[in-house]
Amino acid sequence: MPLTLPQFTIKPHPHLRSDSERQQILAAPGFGRYMTDHMVTIRWTGEAGWHDAALGPYAPLTIDPAATGLHYGQSIFEGLKAYRQPDGTVALFRPEANARRFQASARRMAMPELPVELFMKACELLVSQDRCWVPDAAEHSLYLRPLMFATESTLSVRPSTEYLFLLMASPAGSYFPDGIRPLSVWIAEDYVRAAPGGTGAAKFAGNYAAAFLAQNDAAEHGCDQVVWLDAIERRWIEEVGAMNLFFVRGHGPAAEITTPALTGSLLPGITRDCILTLARDLGHPVSESRIGLEEWRTGAADGSITEVFACGTAAVITPVGRARTRTTAWQMADGRPGPLTLRLREELVAVQTGCAPDPHGWVHHPRTTAH
Ligand SMILES: *Cc1c(COP(=O)(O)O)cnc(C)c1O
Repeated sequence: MPLTLPQFTIKPHPHLRSDSERQQILAAPGFGRYMTDHMVTIRWTGEAGWHDAALGPYAPLTIDPAATGLHYGQSIFEGLKAYRQPDGTVALFRPEANARRFQASARRMAMPELPVELFMKACELLVSQDRCWVPDAAEHSLYLRPLMFATESTLSVRPSTEYLFLLMASPAGSYFPDGIRPLSVWIAEDYVRAAPGGTGAAKFAGNYAAAFLAQNDAAEHGCDQVVWLDAIERRWIEEVGAMNLFFVRGHGPAAEITTPALTGSLLPGITRDCILTLARDLGHPVSESRIGLEEWRTGAADGSITEVFACGTAAVITPVGRARTRTTAWQMADGRPGPLTLRLREELVAVQTGCAPDPHGWVHHPRTTAH
């Protein structure tokens, strides 16, 4: 297998969307609805390793109907953002952490690991090529979606010998266009997301498909998102939707923050890691441990748990206002976003958008706009 990384072929789109069309999209991009003009593709085979790296027009793919990714689910993805900085440049937020997690997901699904440098280069190239698609408005960003799936044509049930890596980008508007609205959450008692030894720690396509039915239950009960419990005791809080969860105990500078420990069935969120770091920097005691459903319910009732929030790349930080099961429901404090929730959100967004110092080196400026 070649040891050198492939060079990218650059084929700019011959028919870019017009400035006015793009401006119209960027005025109200929503989330994941519009793709930019370009995408990156890289192929892998057992003999050639990573090859055919290209940046070209965003376009439909031709896929063999027997491509194993469609049948047996070898498919993983990532999600990261590029933010407009005060000087007008564009920076990626912690792309290396996403590159490493993409490798971890690949290992779990018996897929080849894309080298970190190649992942980073792909992100840098796409963001430079499509930098006019990075919105300027506050709370807006360009969401990058790396994806890899199996393309070998065979009905044999075994790891594919061929894969396609793709990187696409989609402008993202504010998650809360009408101001921050706390989530209501439904505690999943009939379904589990991930079990010990399973795939919960990987950003693996099947995890999300397997969650849709529970998400429908949540919606039927008037809730926004599903809270997942551990698969064995159905007692310990794991995650909410595709976000990690945090619990705050107490008030003011001494407030303690806790998040469920990474047991192997949780997705190790990069936003989660940022919040643990920022809360420590602000002097709050932080811990990663187990939090029981009953402890949450009673803590909310007696006021010892003062705030709960969810976090992930898409929404950054979202307060949780209400929770319900089939038999009971409870509310967090007055149901409004808590002060530490809002403070941490502000701090994190300030680093992402270049409005605050970056002591941990999270903001990555693409090396150059040249190819
Ligand atoms: C992506 C994801 C998260 C959040 O991870 P970030 O790196 O913070 O975006 C949390 N839980 C699940 C299940 C996820 O897929």
